[in-house]
Amino acid sequence: MRIVKRAIAGSGLLWLAVACAGGPPPRGPAAVVSSSRAAHAALPAEAPAASAASSPAPARSTAPAPPAPLPFLKGETHVHTARSYNAHTPPRDVLAFYAAHGYDFVALTDHNRITVVDPPDGLLLIPGVEFTQNSKDCVPPPAPGYRCLFHATGLFVDPARDRFHGGLISMPFQRGRMDAYRWEIRHARALGGVAVLDHPLFHFAANAGMIARLAHEGLKLVELFNASLDGQFPGGRRAAEDRAERLWNDILDRGMLVYGMATDDAHHFADAANRRRHGRYAYVGDRAWIMVRAEKRPDAIRRAVLAGHFYDSTGVTLRTLDRSARSFHLVVEAQPGEHYAIRFVGRHGKLLFHVDGPEASYRIRGDEGWVRAVVESSSGHRAWTQPVMLGTKDRTGQGGAGD
Ligand SMILES: [Zn+2]
Repeated sequence: MRIVKRAIAGSGLLWLAVACAGGPPPRGPAAVVSSSRAAHAALPAEAPAASAASSPAPARSTAPAPPAPLPFLKGETHVHTARSYNAHTPPRDVLAFYAAHGYDFVALTDHNRITVVDPPDGLLLIPGVEFTQNSKDCVPPPAPGYRCLFHATGLFVDPARDRFHGGLISMPFQRGRMDAYRWEIRHARALGGVAVLDHPLFHFAANAGMIARLAHEGLKLVELFNASLDGQFPGGRRAAEDRAERLWNDILDRGMLVYGMATDDAHHFADAANRRRHGRYAYVGDRAWIMVRAEKRPDAIRRAVLAGHFYDSTGVTLRTLDRSARSFHLVVEAQPGEHYAIRFVGRHGKLLFHVDGPEASYRIRGDEGWVRAVVESSSGHRAWTQPVMLGTKDRTGQGGAGD
């Protein structure tokens, strides 16, 4: 069965379509569905739908025009191999795992080492590294029971610029939290790569103020949904993800546009079952990834990620994602027996609009500060779109709009 509602919320027009997957062809309301969809089809690029003519002027955005529609690529950007001190799976076996799980690209991010091996056919290897500084002592100091673990990934690094030639990268110890991150970010760039601040909530390494300052200095990417964090938070995965969302909101509220990333941070593969048998937690793969709208080439993926043309997933796939400074439109690739809820969130984490169903649109009014969307399935999987920053609040100089 399909139910379609058209509603006015505030000064903006909202449409929503609720559909149960696998139901019979729509009757009656179908005409509304198709006209609603036709309006959406014309909406997301730059031209607003005719029905929006009476809406207030859309928010200003300096974002470039959206790229031509491309299929999404499934990618993993944080995973460890036997070349990390705390993992034991050979790099080729790690890549074979991700190839078997339908990934288009993988970045191997060993601790302080660049690992390059030939990937299986059809899988792109993105050279990467996880800069890792672990200590008990730092400034400001950690809360009792926590340590100073400052990790940042370098993605798309150039192995030819690695003066340690794949060996252990020697890092000068930085006592200051910000100094440690700054060194890592600088080093990612010196290797020709792009920096991602990793798992800021792990040992509460970085708070929103620190990340906002680093974003002001050019940091674009923060790993928010690290699948391995669920073993470290009371309440498990959901609590960890909710906490990460609140951190993201806080950064965006400071006017800094950063793109959130979802990753496995996997360390265990064939050895996972044995670890569990011994009561130890296993950080396994294919639990959190990004879906990037780009051609399947490293340079194209890099550009798309830096422009925010991707969404995060822990199991929800989007069939359609149109995101601009004027509106959002999402359609979930619905799975049989699954139900979906979609919410749109703005400044201070305010719930702007909520839909029970696999499809939703939201027309941006312009006063929301920023807008992003979250999809949750009845089995607890989620997808997060990147935010659109509105008006003058984006102090990084771009609105991040357009998919
Ligand atoms: Zn790490």
